[in-house]
Amino acid sequence: MNQHFASVTEIMHPIGSRSAGPDDVVRLIELKRRFGATAALDGVSLSVRQGEILGIIGRSGAGKSTLIRCLNGLERPDSGQVFIEGRDISRLGERELQPLRRRIGMIFQHFNLLSAKTVEVNVALPLKIEGRPRAERLARAAELLELVGLSEKAKAYPASLSGGQKQRVGIARALAARPALLLSDEATSALDPETTRSILALLRDINRQLGLTILLITHEMEVIRSIADRVAVIDAGRIVEQGPVWSVFADPKSAITQSLLGGIRPQLPAEIASRLTQNAGVEAILRIDVAGEAARSPLLSDLASAVPGWFRLVHGGIDHVQQQPVGTLFVAVAGSNEDHLAEVIAFLKARNARVEVLGHVANSV
Ligand code: ADP
Repeated sequence: MNQHFASVTEIMHPIGSRSAGPDDVVRLIELKRRFGATAALDGVSLSVRQGEILGIIGRSGAGKSTLIRCLNGLERPDSGQVFIEGRDISRLGERELQPLRRRIGMIFQHFNLLSAKTVEVNVALPLKIEGRPRAERLARAAELLELVGLSEKAKAYPASLSGGQKQRVGIARALAARPALLLSDEATSALDPETTRSILALLRDINRQLGLTILLITHEMEVIRSIADRVAVIDAGRIVEQGPVWSVFADPKSAITQSLLGGIRPQLPAEIASRLTQNAGVEAILRIDVAGEAARSPLLSDLASAVPGWFRLVHGGIDHVQQQPVGTLFVAVAGSNEDHLAEVIAFLKARNARVEVLGHVANSV
């Protein structure tokens, strides 16, 4: 993919250069918005720093769309403040909002391209709205299509493009007016896994090469894992957890985060889970969560030396999130001796692993 990005730094450098806050392109303070009895936003505070990719994840109904609408001024919060590049937009009128809204480029799940217009006209649209001359618009569209690897499609119509190509056009259009922030609203939710990966890689490249600040709204942890620097988990209108992606993956505090992670974490195979009992048995099945140093060290061989006995890796693996190892291992341990089991658990905990005895199985699995 990198071949698409030759000489783009000079194309995009003004992005974010007008940031008024110390390092925050967006800052939300105690944002509240109710619809009747429903608190869609119930005191949301968070910031997006210059040059970072912040992922906001939550289930359907968590408040993500309301958050986006407050950010681009389509919805007014009942209380709280929305700072974009240091300016509070939450009380501005429609006329004052217009130029500030253009500081946010948006990409959408269903691309929202104009089907009757060519790719280059779609990309240049934000500049037309700004009243820029046609020659400038088309030159900018050509630069951006090169950036997203679609130069040869400039004269094509959206209907002739694949989903991934349509989203590349969407990205090019979102960047046309050199926004301070790219807001991605479930932008890969309609794409297949391979196309999703290529679009996320494109966003990451643009972020790295151009320092573009990205706020990414999703319900998929895999999207967060792939490209976000930090993650905020939203549930019932509140941010229940936030931090660097790898640390939230390593030590998810809230039940909702654990559940969202469940889909991309190793799970005990159902065949074994169905045989677990709480009575002492031949084997105890341990779930061992490791991250950072605990995942880098020879934990299992050290365990075998320190606490003689037999151990068997049943299932699991180590993933790498932001270059940090984070993993879950399911290990079967000789289970009939309580003292032995207690020693194993104490050893693992002393090495900063999180350990849970899931149960016992009567026979070796
Ligand atoms: P998400 O985008 O995470 O699915 P939303 O922001 O759309 O969540 O919705 C959050 C909550 O607010 C939901 O319970 C939803 O039903 C409610 N809600 C959102 N917009 C409206 C509205 N215009 N009128 C009534 N209820 C709304």
